[in-house]
Amino acid sequence: VVRVRDLHKSFGEHEVLRGIDLDVQAGEVVCVIGPSGSGKSTLLRCVNLLEQPTSGSIELLGAEVTDPDVDIDRVRTHVGMVFQQFNLFSHKTVLENCTMAQRTVLRRSRAEAERVALANLERVGLAERPDAMPAQLSGGQQQRVAIARALSMDPQLMLFDEPTSALDPELVGDVLGVMRDLADGGMTMLVVTHEMAFAREVGDRVVFMDEGSVVETGPADQVIGAPREERTRTFLQRVL
Ligand code: ATP
Ligand code: MG
Repeated sequence: VVRVRDLHKSFGEHEVLRGIDLDVQAGEVVCVIGPSGSGKSTLLRCVNLLEQPTSGSIELLGAEVTDPDVDIDRVRTHVGMVFQQFNLFSHKTVLENCTMAQRTVLRRSRAEAERVALANLERVGLAERPDAMPAQLSGGQQQRVAIARALSMDPQLMLFDEPTSALDPELVGDVLGVMRDLADGGMTMLVVTHEMAFAREVGDRVVFMDEGSVVETGPADQVIGAPREERTRTFLQRVL
């Protein structure tokens, strides 16, 4: 579903990604961990071409996204993204937030879009608040709306960039629970996270990044439970 090879990204003189290889297979949950500034968000943004790579290749849902002939907007339609900041439209209701892209991008009728949106709001435990405005919801609820909105586009891949790190601690569990359900349902997911317990339990594979490189990758239990690399161990000692 995702195949990244020798990906480099520089901002001016600063080389932020230094030759990344990454694979995500269908149905797999891959968690990316690593210190602040190691390039995790930049990697995720490159995968979705929100950031133009300096060099390397990125295959996303069978399309080479760095190929100028590929219609990246069409590919992106099938990729859900959830960020640290929920990015909901503040002047639209929960339901409208979940139906807008369905109607404009997928050209669904209002009735169909609302049916799909409500089914996904149900899935994230928010079916009873479709007419609420985002500001009336807690951060955790807003993030679950953002997930329902992404799911309403029938994504073949979900990208998450620290979806819980802006949340109060008591709200983190609900969002992680929704993500766990998604994973159990077979969704293909690439998740940047600081939640080591989540990465270990839900991740099929964990990728540890430092200074723009993949230092270590392997089964979640191995990378987090018994890391091979000294740098991974040092990082985990600091965060666990
Ligand atoms: P965090 O855990 O804090 O989110 P991260 O691993 O996601 O960190 P990135 O956000 O990918 O790290 O940033 C990696 C480096 O790239 C940082 O040094 C950052 O300052 C730099 N960087 C990111 N985006 C840009 C940009 N648009 N212009 C210039 N530098 C950038
Ligand atoms: Mg980041």
